[in-house]
Amino acid sequence: MLTIALSKGRIYKETLPLLAQAGIVPAEDPDKSRKLILPTNRDDVQLLVIRATDVPVFVEYGAADLGVAGKDVLVEHGGEGLYEPLDLRISRCRLMTAGPVDYQPSKRRLRIATKYVKAAQRYFSERGQQVEMIKLYGSMELAPLVGLADCIVDLVDTGNTLRANKLEPWELVMEVSSRLVVNKASMKMKHKLVSQLIHDLSEAVDRQAGENG
Ligand code: AMP
Repeated sequence: MLTIALSKGRIYKETLPLLAQAGIVPAEDPDKSRKLILPTNRDDVQLLVIRATDVPVFVEYGAADLGVAGKDVLVEHGGEGLYEPLDLRISRCRLMTAGPVDYQPSKRRLRIATKYVKAAQRYFSERGQQVEMIKLYGSMELAPLVGLADCIVDLVDTGNTLRANKLEPWELVMEVSSRLVVNKASMKMKHKLVSQLIHDLSEAVDRQAGENG
């Protein structure tokens, strides 16, 4: 049995066509079902539908053999105990610093609000910039508006969320896309099934990239 962990929403929707090309189709729609374990058309493959930040945890501990998670989530998790064999090139966006349109720089240490503490810390330490980090779990855009922080580090897609809050993107921290991750023991113990799936998904990704030009 192969167990694949996915998160609901964008990643699930964009992974589905790739899985279909690899011959895996869920037997139920997770939006309509309350089941957390979804059977598929294949007796030897099941899907877990869980929170995005939990995907690397399930895969690390072997509760799922494989998973799909954003690079942002993987960096925050730390990536221990996981292989990351394939960039699925879906759910793409940018992790960026962003701040108020009318920001007035000051001499004191920059205070940054973010959910992405590890990625932000790495970014500022590579630039030799001492900053103060405030960990938030959501609505980062609010922080500069109410004086909690000077700026934020957040995912940006269209930039509409920033604009709606009178913020602007500043600098790129990293490009983000979803990756296939694999439990290290599963890679050895279920090598034939896992490597076949990696191969099929890799072909599906190439095909999709060809179609998108
Ligand atoms: P946008 O307004 O289109 O720039 O989207 C920004 C908001 O959508 C932010 O609050 C992000 O947290 C979220 N977002 C954008 N792209 C992604 C992604 N690939 N994965 C998860 N969240 C995203």
